[in-house]
Amino acid sequence: MANSLQLCRSCTHTDLNFRENLAGLFASRRRKPVFVKCCSADEPPADSLSFGSDFDPKKFRHDLKRSENFNRRGFGLKEETLEFMNQAYTSEIIETLKENGNEHTWGYVTVKLAKAYGFCWGVEQALRIAFEARKQFHEEKIWITNEIIHNPTVNKHLEEMEVQNLPIREGKKQFDVVDKGDVVILPAFGASVEEMYVLSKKNVQIVDTTCPWVSKVWNTVEKHKKGAYTSIIHGKYSHEETVATASFARKYVIVKNMKEAIYVCDYILGGELNGSSSTKEEFLEVQLCTTMLKGETEDIGKLVQMTMMRKYGVENVNEHFISFNTICDATQKRQDAMYKLVDEKLDLMLVVGGWNSSNTSHLQEIAEDRGIPSYWVDTEKRIGPGNKIAYKLMHGELVEKENWLPEGPITIGVTSGASTPDKVVEDVLVKVFNLKREE
Ligand code: SF4
Repeated sequence: MANSLQLCRSCTHTDLNFRENLAGLFASRRRKPVFVKCCSADEPPADSLSFGSDFDPKKFRHDLKRSENFNRRGFGLKEETLEFMNQAYTSEIIETLKENGNEHTWGYVTVKLAKAYGFCWGVEQALRIAFEARKQFHEEKIWITNEIIHNPTVNKHLEEMEVQNLPIREGKKQFDVVDKGDVVILPAFGASVEEMYVLSKKNVQIVDTTCPWVSKVWNTVEKHKKGAYTSIIHGKYSHEETVATASFARKYVIVKNMKEAIYVCDYILGGELNGSSSTKEEFLEVQLCTTMLKGETEDIGKLVQMTMMRKYGVENVNEHFISFNTICDATQKRQDAMYKLVDEKLDLMLVVGGWNSSNTSHLQEIAEDRGIPSYWVDTEKRIGPGNKIAYKLMHGELVEKENWLPEGPITIGVTSGASTPDKVVEDVLVKVFNLKREE
């Protein structure tokens, strides 16, 4: 889930004259800094609040974490919670695969499982803490500011336990429903500093399940914002993690992909790259949304670095550019394992994970780029009736296909996103085995 981050320090502007170039984002040290929310509209995101210039998110978070209404470790119910999670989320089929070097044959179907797949440490920890909170506060109302992770099966479990999503009206979360004494869970992607601020004023119990990899990115952003750097975040503008990360930055730009990064760099160079002469309005019309594929992140980092070299000279680049690889270990391992798996001889790939899961979309992307027929499903319900499947492509396009399973013996590559329980993968495979048995 973690975003990637580059930091730029550039020349000086006190107004938002985008025609001069993107440097309006990079405010002067000498002049009054300009705060730019570089989003797709002039309006700030729905849940944002205005803080005074003396508001210090770092100090606020530091104090909040030490308050008695804040918990980020759990409630001493680890053993029983892990037992519940084992029962709900593990899979015998996956165990069999692991015992056999991640490859096994059932009837006509040989399954090759990626070496790294499924639940990551951050997700396991977030779920454990959330389930512990439910056990601890069995009578209190429990709210969650967003889906705890992007998996429909897990989110349904929490719903059944009466952990409620904050209602949303006209794009805004309704914090009014939260009363004193309620419990509010912050999901694994974290929450924006504005949301934490609202909750801290309500005297509620806050249970923070934010993955440490995510908060590590916030710390990096916070550390450098005093140095007049602008954060370039490679991520999806509307993704919870990106919103939270941006809320800790004084100045930031969010880029979805290389195309948008080129657009930004072109602005920095005043149109040298593409010869563009975009106006402020045109710039703001660019949809700044998501994606975080490791290779693309590295390429964007290199592009921004080269842009700063061109603008300030090679000898000065270190004063104007710092890059951090904040792609988390789990995401990286799953992508690396996928690159290895698609090198093998496969008839098709099954990518299992929530349809709004960013890290899962990248696993699908790797298979699509390799030209392997690849089917991204979130639950086994997407398969059938008969030899039919509804699946998503890497950019979220929904596709239906008849006769997707070839006849005779087949070899299937399988992987799953960091928020996908093994049990969901098992359910998908059982459906495939049954279809092949009926041939
Ligand atoms: S994918 Fe990475 S950032 Fe997201 S929860 Fe897992 S370890 Fe944390």
